Amino acid sequence: MTTQVPLVVIVGGGFGGPAAAKGLKRSFVNVLLIDRSNHHVFQPLLYQVATSVLAPGQIASAIRGLLAEQKNTSVMLGNVTGVDAVSRQVIVDPNDKCGLKISYDYLILATGANHSYFGHDEFGAFAPGLKSLADAEALRNHILEVFEKAEIEDDPERRQALLTFVMVGAGPTGVEIASAIAVMARTTMRRDFRIRRPLTSFLLMWECAHLPHFPRRSPRQRRGGLQSLGSMSVWVSLRK
Ligand SMILES: Cc1cc2nc3c(=O)[nH]c(=O)nc-3n(C[C@H](O)[C@H](O)[C@H](O)COP(=O)(O)OP(=O)(O)OC[C@H]3O[C@@H](n4cnc5c(N)ncnc54)[C@H](O)[C@@H]3O)c2cc1C
Repeated sequence: MTTQVPLVVIVGGGFGGPAAAKGLKRSFVNVLLIDRSNHHVFQPLLYQVATSVLAPGQIASAIRGLLAEQKNTSVMLGNVTGVDAVSRQVIVDPNDKCGLKISYDYLILATGANHSYFGHDEFGAFAPGLKSLADAEALRNHILEVFEKAEIEDDPERRQALLTFVMVGAGPTGVEIASAIAVMARTTMRRDFRIRRPLTSFLLMWECAHLPHFPRRSPRQRRGGLQSLGSMSVWVSLRK
């Protein structure tokens, strides 16, 4: 009598999913990893794509490629729309099928997180999220577009408005993206565009006295950090 090899279904090919699959490399299981996208994205560098420093392909790799060497693992492209925990099935929409049911013995959900506007979804129209390559490319196109608009804008006030970027959130991503836009303005834009100083303004907003995740430094010191990149920056503290 042969023993059935248990099937572990993993949903998500981001940070967690492939790591879980690799951890099961030597286990007596078969692994099926499902993701709605065919590539893994290294999210910490999305801001570099959004500011044209890196091309999308430089921070993405094929999920199949990551797991190609692993004999007990296969990969499926599909959007998981539901889980039936009672009958132990995941419901997937692969390419041209709808509602495909896949039975599992063990299920790992590693589908990541969505960005949140904390009850203000209307902000989304002005401040899109930065979670996927599509988000990063949309942001990059928008930044390039406002530089183009500023280039042909005669009204100085309107031009300054076009070149003012507001970052809400001074965690690593907010600070990194502010710095990256400043570098972009200082290098590419200064070289390729005719618009001259004042180039860009930043309003970086956060809600406690010091920037979270960073060593304590005064707002003056931090302002100095961005100003040294050649841009005017204003730091607004929303301390309660
Ligand atoms: C801009 C940015 C900067 C960051 N910087 C850092 C940093 O410097 N250091 C750090 O440690 N962390 C950083 N993070 C956080 C880190 O990237 C996340 O914690 C990590 O990616 C979470 O891993 P995960 O596997 O849970 O989800 P993810 O990596 O988000 O992967 C989720 C996967 O699930 C797939 N998926 C989702 N829903 C479905 C579905 N219904 N069907 C099929 N597939 C689905 C998605 O396509 C995706 O591939 C950053 C995140 C962002 C957005």
